[in-house]
Amino acid sequence: MPNILDRKRFIGSRLNPVPEETLYAVLRTLSLRDMHALRTQRPLAPIVDRHLSQRVHYLLESFHLPHMDTVDMLTATGSIIGGSAALALVYPGLRTPRDLNLYCPRGAVDAVVSYLFTQQFDAPKHYFNINNGVRSLNRLKHLTKPSSITVVESMALSALLPVLFSHNTFLMNYCDGRTLTCLYPEMTFDAKGLHNRSEDFDRLHKMTAALKWERLGVSLSWNCDATHSHETAGENESPPDRSGECQREFRTDGDRQTLRMSCSEQRRSSNRTETTVSWNLGYFKWSTTRVEYTDTRVKISTTTTEELYSNRKEFRRGLDWRSYWERDQMDDGETDIAKTSFP
Ligand SMILES: [Zn+2]
Repeated sequence: MPNILDRKRFIGSRLNPVPEETLYAVLRTLSLRDMHALRTQRPLAPIVDRHLSQRVHYLLESFHLPHMDTVDMLTATGSIIGGSAALALVYPGLRTPRDLNLYCPRGAVDAVVSYLFTQQFDAPKHYFNINNGVRSLNRLKHLTKPSSITVVESMALSALLPVLFSHNTFLMNYCDGRTLTCLYPEMTFDAKGLHNRSEDFDRLHKMTAALKWERLGVSLSWNCDATHSHETAGENESPPDRSGECQREFRTDGDRQTLRMSCSEQRRSSNRTETTVSWNLGYFKWSTTRVEYTDTRVKISTTTTEELYSNRKEFRRGLDWRSYWERDQMDDGETDIAKTSFP
């Protein structure tokens, strides 16, 4: 880390501050882990906070959305930014997000879509095959700009559920407008990840689904068995020294493996129901005659309720087929004509 002299070079002095654009040009290349380390240097903390807020501002601006109004909408509805846009926020420079994925809790989709209508977005006709943890899916396009937003409605009261069914841990990052979260920082910032594989993966997805990550230089493990043994901890347990790097580990959002940083200069709280989200990843093992799958399991708890979700077929209930179909078409959809499978 820099010493005091270096810090002065970095931020300048009161009389000769380093211009904000210069600082931004340096900071915009740093990952969330780097920003977290930089923030421990106390004079840099407000600069880091302001920069992360700017990062969200510029991302939303690139999708023609106003920063504060959109953050207020995310807070009011309990929604989050996920997918490649969230990855670009925590790990800049790897991939430019082509579209913006917003995830909202069950029942909040109308509020999110209505807001996007006020921002010049409209819903064209698209067909999707929706899968685990997703109740409905709408893709909206900007009326005049080449910008598209996908609104993913969770089957649960937490918008995070579909994110935990992502194909790999590299996509398990999100931004609720006020904080940035990376759920697998130990691996993500070393360009590594774990697959989160369901038994139906090959039936639902093209073979190339995993290849794009390899081209980006990201190393994804099919099975954490390749990097550590599970013998000492028990067959279905994670070894304690591999916390945050094991498919079998039962994780909770906000646990000590989670890396979370504020990206808001305003501290306003939401009055939404607090949910606790816990999960383990899906994985498979070769046995002598067949492949044994363990499903991804997610538990969503509030103070009064507890819901369990899995990517096993019998858990695919409660899909709102009509709302993922064209918005003006009320016939029930069928999955086999889908152009895209999600997640
Ligand atoms: Zn493991």
